[in-house]
Amino acid sequence: MESLKEKDSRFILNTYGERELAFERGEGVYLWDVKGKRYLDFLSGIGVNILGYAHPRIIETIQRQASKLTHTSNLYLIPNQIKLAEKLVRNSFPGKCFFCNSGAEAVEASLKFARKRGKGRFEVISLENSFHGRTYGALSLTGQTKYQKNFVPLLPGIKYTPINDFEKLKSKVTPQTCAIIIEPIQGEGGVNPCEERFLKAVREFTKEKDILLIFDEVQCGMGRTGRLFAYQHFGVEPDVLVLAKGLGGGLPIGAMVVREEIADTFQPGDHASTFGGNPLSTAVACEVVDILTSGNFLEKVREKAVFLWELLEKLRGNMEGKIKKIKGIGFMVGIEISGSAKKVRRKCEENGLLVGTAGENVVRLLPPLIVEKTHIEEAVKIIEESMKEVL
Ligand code: PLP
Repeated sequence: MESLKEKDSRFILNTYGERELAFERGEGVYLWDVKGKRYLDFLSGIGVNILGYAHPRIIETIQRQASKLTHTSNLYLIPNQIKLAEKLVRNSFPGKCFFCNSGAEAVEASLKFARKRGKGRFEVISLENSFHGRTYGALSLTGQTKYQKNFVPLLPGIKYTPINDFEKLKSKVTPQTCAIIIEPIQGEGGVNPCEERFLKAVREFTKEKDILLIFDEVQCGMGRTGRLFAYQHFGVEPDVLVLAKGLGGGLPIGAMVVREEIADTFQPGDHASTFGGNPLSTAVACEVVDILTSGNFLEKVREKAVFLWELLEKLRGNMEGKIKKIKGIGFMVGIEISGSAKKVRRKCEENGLLVGTAGENVVRLLPPLIVEKTHIEEAVKIIEESMKEVL
């Protein structure tokens, strides 16, 4: 009989490379593969499953909404969509929302928004090593040639500048600049946080020059850092906030929140999405926002993240220089190693732990926000064992 892997290579386009594991079910912070082996998940489906698996409130919401209505189109008012927009705006800044189905789509929306508002100004400045998605606009904004090289020519008018270098960024600005897009913490590019003084300087400058400041929080938003939005760590508010991943608690959804004063930029016909903000994904996203913002949920995330960082720093001390640096904020963590991150990832998988990578030598951790201290101890122990085996 043909194995799953053989069938995969026969019928699925080979865009993801070698894939070994297939999962059957999940519960809490654990996943079980088709052979019955259990894994502790410290990657959350690349930052999506922030409430883990089979969360009772998410199951209940999906079942309840699916039995009533999943899609109507945006020709009609969608009550759950309006409810979600109100929740996002009340927890961020006065503004309005547009909904779509993924991170790249949300970035696309922000790019169109920026250019329309630019009224002819069309240049956008993005950061080197950034990642904004794979569609043409988002790919053009992505400051990594490895993703772009086979797809030129890209969108004109995009410039890249190094992270945390305000003077260089300023030197790239021209009278044609309409927007600057920044991940407050770069994810795919290696888990690199922006410095507060950099973001503050960019904010002040963009206000002065009437340039739109877009924060791509697709990966670092939705509680990942211990605050609902990453920008809240820096005391710097963007004009446009781009969200996806964790927002849907496992269902596909993307969102763009724009500041009240500029919300009229988009008019009927400027942008649309058939599936965007449908009754099902927005019902679940409402539940996700409610869970994240109620009680001391985020405070606990911050507390547990401190515990994770303590253990990782201790591990760094025990690894004889093989761990160079722990970087990130909260539960968005990069472990920079001297050696192959992919090898560590594979070994962790063998040892029952799912982790990610960001570039050649950064092991990336994006655990579900519901992990407990015992899971953190278990994960760090497996990371230690695995690193000792392969580094
Ligand atoms: N922006 C950031 C910061 C991301 O990390 C990603 C995906 O990893 C995207 C955009 C693209 O999101 P999607 O894969 O949902 O299109």
